[in-house]
Amino acid sequence: MRKPLVEIKNLKKYYPIKKGLLKRTVNHVKAVDGLDFSIYKGETLGLVGESGCGKSTTGRTILQLLKPTDGEVLYEGQNLVRMPGRELRKLRKDLQMVFQDPYASLDPRLTVGQIIAEPMEIHRLYSGKEKDKRVEELLEVVGLNSYHAKRFPHEFSGGQRQRIGIARALALEPKLIVADEPVSALDVSIQSQVINLLQDLQGKFGLTYLFIAHDLSVVKHISDRVGVMYLGRLVELADKDNLYAEPLHPYTKALLSAVPIPDPLAKRERIVLQGDVPSPANPPAGCAFHPRCSECMEICRKQRPAWKEINGHYVACHLYN
Ligand code: ADP
Ligand code: MG
Repeated sequence: MRKPLVEIKNLKKYYPIKKGLLKRTVNHVKAVDGLDFSIYKGETLGLVGESGCGKSTTGRTILQLLKPTDGEVLYEGQNLVRMPGRELRKLRKDLQMVFQDPYASLDPRLTVGQIIAEPMEIHRLYSGKEKDKRVEELLEVVGLNSYHAKRFPHEFSGGQRQRIGIARALALEPKLIVADEPVSALDVSIQSQVINLLQDLQGKFGLTYLFIAHDLSVVKHISDRVGVMYLGRLVELADKDNLYAEPLHPYTKALLSAVPIPDPLAKRERIVLQGDVPSPANPPAGCAFHPRCSECMEICRKQRPAWKEINGHYVACHLYN
């Protein structure tokens, strides 16, 4: 039996929309609107969906960088959402994040060595020579050199900066890493190097990843399972092979049809997604995807589809009722 490292139950994050002089709350952006899934020990769970679907908010609420509006996040059985601050701070070192933009996420005034050492200082884990040695080790682990510790972030390329961000995330020997579009800002030629690095590190340190991306091609290589998100909810979740070979949800099919196929003779129906993601402040009634769905039925406009298991997939779609 696979063991969950993290269990997410009915997770919600609403951002208030305030108006007027009195800043009254007039509505909410339902960025995450009821997620239920687990992340198993040692796996990579890919999370995909168009921009604005709530992926970053999901990652941040799981790590408690944002306080959820509702729901539970059980980390090794302990509910992080209700945990007192002091206990949560102790667990923080287990839960790390790698950010999308390696330019914005590294403090330009600090040397690379200081950047990587910072979490160790905050958690008082290493000091003096031991800390310097640890920084050197981490630089080598991510494919950089120990002498890079004295340099500043601007002296590095995008791919190298993301390696620095990864070294910093590894400094406290974490268990879970949420990687939020870690390669989206990088050249395509560099993307696979960083993905391969993350995969090597996973094997070496027994890490568990939630790997966020906006398209299905990026997560294909690294994921064990893939979840597809639309307007704050999961629409499909399945083992990677199942999901890519036999997608069930029309949204997954549409995302997949945008992924290039290496074999020129292989055919795939091309589905073009019409329009943009609607506002999560006023999501469509029924199935939130219905206005863009090529297979929309009467019931889809009225009733929200249940989250059900079919052929090893979890899917929320009236086509499978
Ligand atoms: P993704 O990472 O999938 O692009 P996000 O989680 O960043 O999506 O955002 C989901 C929705 O929440 C978007 O509509 C976004 O505009 C909104 N949102 C994100 N952060 C805030 C915030 N701090 N205040 C208000 N709305 C926000
Ligand atoms: Mg995002």
